[in-house]
This record gives sequence, C-alpha cells and structure tokens, in this order.
Amino acid sequence: MKRNNKHRVLENVLVEDYAAEGKSLARIDGKVIFIEDAVPGDIVDVRLSKSKKDWAEGKAINFRQYASHRVTPFCEHFGVCGGCQWQMLPYEQQLGFKQKQVQDNLQRIGKVALPPFEPILGATDTRYYRNKIEYTFGNKRYLLPEEVGDPNFSAFQDVAGYHVKGLFDKIVDIRKCHLQAEPTNGIRLALKEYAISHNLSFYDIRNHIGFMRNVQIRFCRSGELMVNVIFGYEDEAQRIPMLAHLLELFPSITTLLYTINTKWNDSLFDLSPEIYYGKGYVIETLEDFRFKIGPKSFFQTNTGQGERLYQVTREYADLTGNEIVYDLYCGTGSIGLFVSRQAKKVIGVELINEAIEDAKENALLNNILHAEFYAGDVIKICDDAFFDQHGRPDVIITDPPRAGMHEKLVEKILDIAAPTVVYVSCNPATQARDLNLLDAKYEVTRIRPVDMFPHTHHIENVAQLKLRAGN
Ligand code: SAH
Repeated sequence: MKRNNKHRVLENVLVEDYAAEGKSLARIDGKVIFIEDAVPGDIVDVRLSKSKKDWAEGKAINFRQYASHRVTPFCEHFGVCGGCQWQMLPYEQQLGFKQKQVQDNLQRIGKVALPPFEPILGATDTRYYRNKIEYTFGNKRYLLPEEVGDPNFSAFQDVAGYHVKGLFDKIVDIRKCHLQAEPTNGIRLALKEYAISHNLSFYDIRNHIGFMRNVQIRFCRSGELMVNVIFGYEDEAQRIPMLAHLLELFPSITTLLYTINTKWNDSLFDLSPEIYYGKGYVIETLEDFRFKIGPKSFFQTNTGQGERLYQVTREYADLTGNEIVYDLYCGTGSIGLFVSRQAKKVIGVELINEAIEDAKENALLNNILHAEFYAGDVIKICDDAFFDQHGRPDVIITDPPRAGMHEKLVEKILDIAAPTVVYVSCNPATQARDLNLLDAKYEVTRIRPVDMFPHTHHIENVAQLKLRAGN
C-alpha cells in the first residue's frame, strides 16, 4: 500500500469487510477507511473525501483486482444511475451481509441479550419488484467519463431517467430499468419520444422552465396500472394529445392522471393530480385485504415482500382475538388492518392527515369496523388519557421512520408496559438504540430480518419484545 497525500489517494488497498450504509472498509495503521463502490476482497485505489484521526472515507476509483465472488451486474446502467449498488454480489451473499449487518448493530449498539436470529426472509423476486417508480425528464444528460470531451456526445440533450447522486441537474438517460415490470420502460420511452418529436421542452432544473417534468408509475400485482404525468406548466393543447397517445399505446393503463407542478421542488404533497382517465386510484392486495392507493398515498413499494413483512409482524404479535393492538407510525394503516382479524380492537396513530384518511377508507373497504385511526404526532397523541380512552395495549406494533422512535415514546412504552411489543424497523442502528432503552423492562424474544430491496443495502428487521416478569 502506497500513500499519495497530494491527491489523497490510497493505493493498493485490500478491502476487508462490510460496513454500514452499503460501504465497505479497510484498516490501515489502525485507522478505519470506509470505501464506497467496493466489496470485501477487492484491491482498489481509494480517493479520500474525508480524513480524520481514527477514520477516513472515500471512493474506489481504480480496481487492481476484483473480489473472486463478484458477478457481472445485469443492468447496463449499473454504477452510473446510483440505484441497485450491490448487483455485483450474488443475491445469497447480499442476504448474508444484510443479516450480519442487523446482527452487528443489535450487538454493538443494542448491547442487549438476543435470541438466535430466524433466517432472513429473502425476496422471491429480485427484479421487477417495485410497484412504484418515478422517472425524471430533464434537458441535461449525464455524460459517462469516457464520453466527456468526445464531440459525439453532448450534455445538452433531452433525457428521461434518474437524477445522478450528487449532481442534481444531470439525468442518467435510462434505456432499461429492472426495478418495475413492463410497461414501465415502454411508458417512459414513449413519453420521451413523443415529447422530442413534438418539440416539447424538457425541464431545466437550474432555470425552472420546461414542460416535461416527471412521471410516476404504480403497477400493482392486481394488474391495475396508474400513471401520473407531471408537467412544469399547463398547456392543454399539448397535454391532451400526449395523454391520448399514451393511452392508445398502453391500453393496460387503468388510470391516467396529470399534475401541473410550477414549484421549484418535485414533491406532490401540496399539488392536485387531475384525472384524465379512469377512477384516479388503484387497488392493491395483500393476502385478501384490499388497499386503495391514490397518486399521493404511501404504500409499501415491494408488494410481495411487504406481505411477508406483515406476516412476520402478525406472527410476532401472538394474537388470539382478545387483544387491544396499537399500530404506531401506522401510515395508511396497512399493518393494523392486516392483523385486525386476530385482534379485539386496533388503534392506529400517524402524523400525516391524508394517510389517516386513507387508513379509514381502507378499513371500510375491507369491512373492518373495529379499527380506529388518529392523526398526530405519536408523542403528543399517546398520553395517559389516550390509553385510558381506548384501552391499555396488549400489543404495541411500532414501525418508525429511519430515525427510530422518539425517546419520549420509548419512555411511554416502558411506562404503559404492554406485554408484547413488535418493532418493525428500516434502520437496524436506531432500532438497536431503542432496544437498548427498552431493555429496562423488555426482553428481545424473536428477530427476523426481511429483505424488501434486493441489490441495495436497505434492510427491514422485525423484533418481538416481551415484558419481563415482575414489570
Ligand atoms: N407502518 C406503515 C408506514 C411506516 S413508515 C406501513 O407499513 O405502511 C413510518 C411512518 O411514520 C410514516 O408514515 C410517517 O409519516 C410516520 N411518522 C413519522 N414521524 C411521526 C411522528 N412523530 N408521529 C407519528 N407518525 C410519524
């Protein structure tokens, strides 16, 4: 290993192990180097972006030798678009690492006694697994390193695909993405082609001008297909023939919407998608439950694995039909509804008003009358009066965002002392922190990671906690 301080490049580094967040690590003279884009077994040159006393981080810029277990990524855009960072690893290895990552976090940060892990639930479909995808239209194409300076390639080009990580105004022009089943690529390419051949402008994110902005596609396993085309301004004379053309090319679209977004950001929450065709939403199924999903609704993006995650959650809840179950951070209420047939009553709490409206509608859609949903911050809503009013919980299911539970909620859970807590987490580090706090009264009795996002480093983990005797 040679050091080249001037360019802050470490040469000939043998990557030793996996670290968190999809990075790997090497140790040099007692210092830990976190490395992006490399896997253990690779020998690489690393350009450092940060260097502290005990650790540094950087990116593999040159591969001297590839790890022997690497496989050839199946996607032509691998390494460029920023998604699916682990395609170079066989799926079984990805799963092994995800399980290890959960284990390491719970042991290192959680520092609590753990039961043996139940084997990670890998995905049955490792491609075309997303029900929702969003593509971006833009007037600047990301150039591959070998294209830069070549007069045959220009960055000033109308393209459709994904934003490049770290370069907000450049779009990777995607030919084929493997994340969602067809006609996802067909729809994106047809819109792009139509817009180019009709001289319609693509969005310029620096100057905030341009007609073609985004397209969101929700394709359910029920077969229903919702497309929402987002325009930078209203131009009925251009918009209507384009949407008609899309519908004619793809008669499998069950609902087609459009949204006019003149804001500087892409978020839809304060906009009104308008129906061009169809009922304006799709119905997705989990087991025999039906969920109505509108263009702004939240729903697990991997339907098949979402169903399995909820099955593990329900199993861990140990329900007999007599329990009062609280579903905290309930989103559109899908976990609560999924476990409701085995519960006496379900109470869901969620911050976002619209999600609670969806939850109530989904309860009615499934003829579930013993589930109630409340909008507000869990730490404000879940006070003694709330528990007195709705009944002391026999089971608390909690599914917080990546930041984990607020400490006040952890304290409340300890205070209310429900016999069973099921903790569904999308971030093992914050889950470990919370389990450490809950250890004051709770023992972790079952653990099972579930893979919702093949080829990425993301992992969900379900833990069952039981109140210790005497509490
Ligand atoms: N359980 C749901 C969604 C979990 S995602 C499902 O499986 O579909 C986490 C949810 O927590 C999000 O819907 C987010 O809006 C909500 N949330 C975040 N902070 C919150 C808070 N302080 N109080 C209540 N809900 C919150």
